[in-house]
Amino acid sequence: MKESEDKSLIAGLDGLGIKEAKEILWNLNPAELVEEALKNGEGLLADTGALMCDTGKFTGRSPKDRFIVKDAKTADTVWWGDINIPFDPERFDQLQHKMVDFLKDRKLYVRDAYAVAHPEYRLNLRVVNTQAWQNLFCHNMFLRLPQEELQHHCPAFTILCVPEFKADPAVDGTRQPNFAIINFTKGIILIGGTGYAGEIKKGIFSVLNYILPHEKNTLSMHCSANVGAKGDTAIYFGLSGTGKTTLSADPDRGLIGDDEHGWTADSVFNFEGGCYAKVVDLTREKEPEIWDAISFGAIIENTRFQEGTRTVDYTNTTVTENTRTAYPIYHIPNAVEPSIAGTPTNIFFLTADAFGVIPPISRLNKSQAMYHFISGYTAKVAGTEMGVTEPVTTFSACFGAAFLPLHPTKYAEMFGRKMEEQHVNVWLVNTGWTGGAYGVGSRMKLSYTRAMITAALNGDLNEVEYHQHPIFGVEMPVSCPNVPAEILNPRNTWQDKELYDAAAANLASKFVQNFRKYADFANDEILAGAPRIEVTA
Ligand code: ATP
Ligand code: MN
Repeated sequence: MKESEDKSLIAGLDGLGIKEAKEILWNLNPAELVEEALKNGEGLLADTGALMCDTGKFTGRSPKDRFIVKDAKTADTVWWGDINIPFDPERFDQLQHKMVDFLKDRKLYVRDAYAVAHPEYRLNLRVVNTQAWQNLFCHNMFLRLPQEELQHHCPAFTILCVPEFKADPAVDGTRQPNFAIINFTKGIILIGGTGYAGEIKKGIFSVLNYILPHEKNTLSMHCSANVGAKGDTAIYFGLSGTGKTTLSADPDRGLIGDDEHGWTADSVFNFEGGCYAKVVDLTREKEPEIWDAISFGAIIENTRFQEGTRTVDYTNTTVTENTRTAYPIYHIPNAVEPSIAGTPTNIFFLTADAFGVIPPISRLNKSQAMYHFISGYTAKVAGTEMGVTEPVTTFSACFGAAFLPLHPTKYAEMFGRKMEEQHVNVWLVNTGWTGGAYGVGSRMKLSYTRAMITAALNGDLNEVEYHQHPIFGVEMPVSCPNVPAEILNPRNTWQDKELYDAAAANLASKFVQNFRKYADFANDEILAGAPRIEVTA
């Protein structure tokens, strides 16, 4: 479908208040969008056929500029604070008018799509973009509608994304000129002043993290998922950069999805229709599925070419460490279609522990599983968020607090019930440092992490002996196929054992301090999963 004089299609934007625009291009296919992007000067073609674009000033999300409209619907349901920052409904209307007015003489790209592969939970979407590449991003990342459904598509949520539009904080009530604001009552997300398309994706994720648990009694999760030949599902929780996308791309397992899923009594299902992978230092040898997915139709963000060529230099981080690719899930040959599988038999908590303390793989009991789920530990390394260039310890409840509109205990309760009802093996995997902390040690070899996960999945780790970690209490296997035994206990990899013990005690005390805010929620069973350490301060 192309430019529309058709009133019914213009009417499709009435909900936003858009009455006029220079041109409105509906549901262009990827080839047309790539042509548009090149014509508009939005990007360049790489030799693989992928479209290379820059996202501008923002090369990551801006969590401090993410708001939720506080009104009758959300006032008593949303967990307000630094993560879910309230926004005034009238200010929202005013800002929406300003944005619509701004669009009068602009060309718009509109995309109809949906989120959630499970038909019962489907969320119909419409996205209005000013940049063709961002519309292609939405084509890649959301689920695509068959042609016959486009005519009577009725969106539950509409996203208006205008990177060129800057808010006036004094007048509009934003913090900065850039913003992403969710209005649950109107079913609208307004995004302005930022060209980072991840705001669109994570905006809808946040919406689903409200709707599913609150309105449909279903757990939503920040995790990747894949399924083995025997139908055994595995899910991988973890904060940004811990390996969800990398480790879910496994040639021996069907990919369900790389970032956002729901879990019912009998299924795990993807919310998205594509993957958004980090590409810093990408090589075909280490990550062949992702490498091969970066073909025509895929987008690569904030990367640079090798000089004098159209070959991407993935080692180049002059724009940002957070270089990314967005491709539709059908670019992965062993993706499951539709993206639904059975309930998980294995759960992995991924952490990129920059302190080199957490064992590379360990088995958790139920208490430890709950404790670590609520803690959501990783060390943040330079990446998705603005202003993070040095590693910092971070605890983010349910491995995704930044995207959770409800109180974390709501998700934790649902997760705990699943742990009671369904038999699941839970593993803690450190994809971060070994042989010392960041600066001294080195990042765990990806091939080792893959081998440990494979061994957990195929049952090899059920056959081996375990030692308990003296502080964290988790069980460390003493051997694992294709992994040197000496790295399995992190203490062995440190030159100075006493330094390790001190680092472990220090990290444990941070867990304990962080967990204090859940004192009201945590019962004895959950607290039994805490590290064994006396913390006085
Ligand atoms: P986000 O939520 O931001 O999408 P993510 O959890 O999906 O983050 P990935 O995209 O998988 O994170 O990023 C993991 C990065 O770490 C990749 O660039 C990968 O190559 C690198 N890496 C290095 N060593 C390991 C390891 N041992 N295990 C997993 N990933 C590793
Ligand atoms: Mn990812």
